[in-house]
Amino acid sequence: MPIQISMRDGICCPVAVCDWCHRPIERAADGNYEWDMHQISSPISFTHKHCCRAFEAASPDVLYGAEELRLLPVYLERNLAMTHRDAVQLAKPAALF
Ligand SMILES: [Zn+2]
Repeated sequence: MPIQISMRDGICCPVAVCDWCHRPIERAADGNYEWDMHQISSPISFTHKHCCRAFEAASPDVLYGAEELRLLPVYLERNLAMTHRDAVQLAKPAALF
């Protein structure tokens, strides 16, 4: 379960959790998202960059694609037909920052 809701200071925060070590990925620059390139539609896995090789080695039959985690919000915004500015405006009243 790579995306979880974690309570932080009484606020529900979505966090990416590493599928290898099961710890939260605290900085986008430290993580990747990965998928099975053999599938037309694949679930996403998250890994710390230092956990990536071990995670992939545990499933040698899977051909993983991997990308920088910091790119995922940009691609999601585009594929959800919204802008970053819209997302920030919606999130501010909910005090998610
Ligand atoms: Zn990890």
